[in-house]
Amino acid sequence: MSAVDWTPEQAALRDRLLDASTENTKRCPACAMTKPAGEFYEHAARHDGLTPYCRPCHLARTRVRSKASNRAKARLAKAHRAEYDALYAEELAKLRDDA
Ligand SMILES: [Zn+2]
Repeated sequence: MSAVDWTPEQAALRDRLLDASTENTKRCPACAMTKPAGEFYEHAARHDGLTPYCRPCHLARTRVRSKASNRAKARLAKAHRAEYDALYAEELAKLRDDA
């Protein structure tokens, strides 16, 4: 590689490609901003080791998601309340039988 004489244009292109390949910056699809990698949380399971969304967007999204899922859980619990009660009564009866 050292034998190559880079023109300023080539050097600029090389630097840009190197920059992109080392994931020094990353575009957040939620806020559409390109931010330094440090602005993203680490996520070992992802190909680039970072969460897809930047820190503020990631937090906002997980907060919304957990709120939504809590609401869904509450709805489900209400809908299946009678079912749960029956199961619970059954389990209690079993415990009493064992004792
Ligand atoms: Zn963002």
